[in-house]
Amino acid sequence: MVNFKKARERMVEVQVMARGVHDERVLEAMRKVPRHLFVDEALRDQAYSDHPLPIAENQTISQPYIVGIMTASLQLRGGEKVLEIGTGSGYQTAVLGELADRVFSIERYPDLGYRANSVLRGLGYDNVIIRVGDGSLGWPDDAPFDGIIVTAGTPKIPQPLIDQLAKGGRLIVPVGDRTSQELILVERAPEAIRKTNLGGVRFVNLVGKWGWKE
Ligand code: SAH
Repeated sequence: MVNFKKARERMVEVQVMARGVHDERVLEAMRKVPRHLFVDEALRDQAYSDHPLPIAENQTISQPYIVGIMTASLQLRGGEKVLEIGTGSGYQTAVLGELADRVFSIERYPDLGYRANSVLRGLGYDNVIIRVGDGSLGWPDDAPFDGIIVTAGTPKIPQPLIDQLAKGGRLIVPVGDRTSQELILVERAPEAIRKTNLGGVRFVNLVGKWGWKE
């Protein structure tokens, strides 16, 4: 039986901190969120390993390091409204719930959305709302967002997400082909949009109006 707390502390030190994520709030959130509760019982002992793991519907829970750099890139300080596209297991959602004021998360598969919702409710994340639908359209009712995180790969940045970004807001999104992408950080300055490439990644596909067709 793995000591989950120890495994989690080691994960943060070896996989996240040692590779250059230094935002102490992000590290603390990742030391706290019980990642093993977001995977199938049979995979719990691997929950803190240095790779993604399968979840239902042929999707994956992202590698811890990727969660670390993507979350840190949003530079959350505590008062923000954040949108996540691709709830999946709900793990990234919980990390955001630790760091922002309110989190809105959209998942395309109803069973993943329901499952993530029940784990998050069980852990007391009352500042998180999950919706089932096409997240490539964003969440216009509650826009604009200070941070937007897309956890699925897309051929181009969905325009609705850029439109729903608050002034000074940050959007992190994997852009590329179906098998490999570049992590693009979009910063919305008052007069301009700045894009930075944070490096290569491999995500499952964003399937929707502004992503891939089925
Ligand atoms: N953050 C999640 C990543 C899950 S994988 C985690 O670490 O567990 C990406 C998720 O994006 C999958 O669950 C997939 O079903 C979902 N997805 C793909 N296209 C989507 C879309 N258009 N809208 C909402 N979710 C989508």
